[in-house]
Amino acid sequence: MTYYPLTKEQRSLKDLAAQLAMAELAPRAAETDKSGVFPRASLNGLKESGLWGLRVSKEHGGLGADLLSTCLVVEELAKKCASTAMCYKMHVEAAELISRMPSDYQVEKFVKKIAAGEILCTVAGGETSGKGDNWVPGMVLSSVEKGEEGYILDHLRKSYVTSAGQASHYFMLCRVGAETKGHKLSALFIEADNIEWETLGDWNGLGMRGNNSVPIRFNGVVPEKNRIGDEGEALKYLGAVMMPVVALTYGAAYLGVASGAYELAMEEASKVYPSGAKRLDNPINQRRMAELSAKIEAARALLHVAAAAGDAGQVTAPLPYLQAKVSCSEVAVLVTQELMTMFGGTAFAGRLPFERYFRDARAGMIMGLANDDAYQTIYGMLFPEKKK
Ligand SMILES: Cc1cc2nc3c(=O)[nH]c(=O)nc-3n(C[C@H](O)[C@H](O)[C@H](O)COP(=O)(O)OP(=O)(O)OC[C@H]3O[C@@H](n4cnc5c(N)ncnc54)[C@H](O)[C@@H]3O)c2cc1C
Repeated sequence: MTYYPLTKEQRSLKDLAAQLAMAELAPRAAETDKSGVFPRASLNGLKESGLWGLRVSKEHGGLGADLLSTCLVVEELAKKCASTAMCYKMHVEAAELISRMPSDYQVEKFVKKIAAGEILCTVAGGETSGKGDNWVPGMVLSSVEKGEEGYILDHLRKSYVTSAGQASHYFMLCRVGAETKGHKLSALFIEADNIEWETLGDWNGLGMRGNNSVPIRFNGVVPEKNRIGDEGEALKYLGAVMMPVVALTYGAAYLGVASGAYELAMEEASKVYPSGAKRLDNPINQRRMAELSAKIEAARALLHVAAAAGDAGQVTAPLPYLQAKVSCSEVAVLVTQELMTMFGGTAFAGRLPFERYFRDARAGMIMGLANDDAYQTIYGMLFPEKKK
């Protein structure tokens, strides 16, 4: 259900996404998960409808979708194939800043091409170090030097980059100059065709198996005109401009994992077995399905209210976005784990795809802002430290 009252435009984008998810993503989802092959065909299937330019303004050829529509679209895609939805979500996220605050050069060179489906982008944000990509508390992102022709990336490595080696453009964060403080980040839009890059290793994730979220190393020069906004000011834009889309689309993707699994459960649990019984005859399952429906609607309601409040310009701090993100990812874990129990051996043996949803859901707890980290941020907003 979608209780939040939708406009005609929001409903039609939701319907479009649902229809494309069914036609383009659903038939390939099992194979994408099994083989781990990047879901290029599924992503291409979203191109013609204009979904690659979902958040690009209509003035620049995009669909000009608001935050609520964006959540509706991502949820519908994730219901059918979480891997494709996550690659798509990272594309929408990577396109956000440059679409919101492009230079004239960037409008022609990038934004209109995103709208036309000629650019598939992704986010090369995080960095971890050590052989096993160890946790680095208080991580400081790598620095680049500024030369005459632009920013020099000297074998700069980013970890866990969804669509690595598949995207044509990378939204990347770095410091300019080795002495620059960790919070003085700059945002660059890297053209894969104009730089050396190599992906490192294979992606063999527990879930999101089509993502190709492997490390990537860049070597070369990125022209200054590919920088988004002012040098050293990216964190300001991330908070004010990008955060709503980053957090809400994570929420939407994981909500889609929960609601996709739930919809499948509704269908399967109502089937009558040769014995004449169905899973829904069992009062435990009746209660389970009722309870899960309430949890999904609660998470969805928060997501939609947060998005609508953002669209109305009523959000001053990212608190509702992060609360929605953690709620949706946790509901995905809860729903999929319960359905693994409800569908017993059939689910465990992979005869029905609940185990795929279950594995995909796990990524929601650690992706983007990992939930433990998100809760720390939420706490900090609720109980700000008094300045001494
Ligand atoms: C499928 C997948 C796709 C991804 N795609 C991308 C992508 O496209 N682009 C990109 O830039 N990144 C991507 N990532 C990286 C993702 O954002 C990171 O996994 C995430 O930031 C967490 O970092 P980590 O995996 O190194 O976990 P760690 O930092 O090792 O965190 C593990 C645990 O440590 C604890 N922890 C860590 N930091 C804190 C903190 N500050 N406060 C409290 N507890 C903490 C938490 O318990 C957390 O769950 C992807 C990851 C996955 C799994």
